[in-house]
Amino acid sequence: MKYGVNEHGYYGDFGGAYIPEMLYPNVEELRQQYTQILNDPGFKAEFEQLLRDYVGRPSPLYPAKRYSEKYGANIFFKREDLNHTGSHKINNAVGQILLARRLGKKRIIAETGAGQHGVATATVCALMGIECVVYMGEVDMERQAPNVSRMKMLGAKVVPATSGSKTLKDATNEAMRDWINNPVDTHYIIGSVVGPYPYPEMVAQFQSIISLETKKQLLEHTGNELPQYVMACVGGGSNAMGMFYHFLDNESVKLIAVEAAGQGVESGHSAATTFLGREGVLHGSRTILMQTDDGQVVEPYSISAGLDYPGIGPQHAHLYKVQRAKYVNITDDEALQAGLLCSQLEGIIPAIETAHALAYLEKMTFKMDDNVVICISGRGDKDLNTYIKYFNF
Ligand SMILES: *Cc1c(COP(=O)(O)O)cnc(C)c1O
Repeated sequence: MKYGVNEHGYYGDFGGAYIPEMLYPNVEELRQQYTQILNDPGFKAEFEQLLRDYVGRPSPLYPAKRYSEKYGANIFFKREDLNHTGSHKINNAVGQILLARRLGKKRIIAETGAGQHGVATATVCALMGIECVVYMGEVDMERQAPNVSRMKMLGAKVVPATSGSKTLKDATNEAMRDWINNPVDTHYIIGSVVGPYPYPEMVAQFQSIISLETKKQLLEHTGNELPQYVMACVGGGSNAMGMFYHFLDNESVKLIAVEAAGQGVESGHSAATTFLGREGVLHGSRTILMQTDDGQVVEPYSISAGLDYPGIGPQHAHLYKVQRAKYVNITDDEALQAGLLCSQLEGIIPAIETAHALAYLEKMTFKMDDNVVICISGRGDKDLNTYIKYFNF
């Protein structure tokens, strides 16, 4: 695969495993085993069975009729919002819990921002009867209180991260620290295509089911498995990577990744990583991240807790640099308006993360017969309070 990972764990200039020496055995164990496990027929069968019977896959590819009329193209929604637990994150959580079991791990740790990955992880741990500890920034625990309750109800222990900005990057640091202290019995389930190799590759492969299904479904709907455009929002980039994966080598398909501009890219309150960032190392891989001149990570901001991450996965950094995908950004206001529009035109209340991808439709011009696929990464139930406050419902 032209845009895939090389044998050293790099996508072009990005990726690798920049980890403290004490984490080396954990990451090395994964690196040595993940390919063999993921390609094992028994593993594949179990993964596929759970995706079908537990997650509810395949997720529909819905021809969004009123969106198509409004924007003058054939617009399709890939409905990851209909998955069990309400987003694409469950695909990766199921894959990694099966991997952890095959590695003989007895305990799972995870980090979470919006709480969606924490809920997905707590869910699969309940399913498998494995101990689960989720690290979450104290600020995020307040912003996403219902998800904290969900995780607790599912039997997970939620540990607040109280350092720094008390958000996702601090939770990630705490999880890494836990893993260093518990190298033998614990597997760390990272929730996006970030972290040291092999995580970005592993997570991308688990999420690639999204584009695999989409190709088949598009063929049925349009007679062609290739659309003109594929669009997705990007926090760390896992739903986008899953949505892009099987289209990467089809160069005629234009890939559009939508980042969160927050209050505007120049406002100082933004998470538009490719626009504001530079190359550096974040959470174990070489990538593009928002940083000060002396290399301190800049605090990201977005109204959506799932997009306010200061970096992007290394494969995205590569796709950006070689211009295989186009990286754009959308403000809080634009996203919330798009969320309202989608609710009222299609009867689908999207996650505010997803609404960023939808909002970019406003800035595009299409030919009449263009086929456009948008990844509806999650449902908006968790965001109702934010929508209510903004629109005064
Ligand atoms: C977590 C989340 C995202 C952002 O994460 P990615 O890894 O970039 O996909 C986007 N949408 C929803 C609904 C999420 O829960």
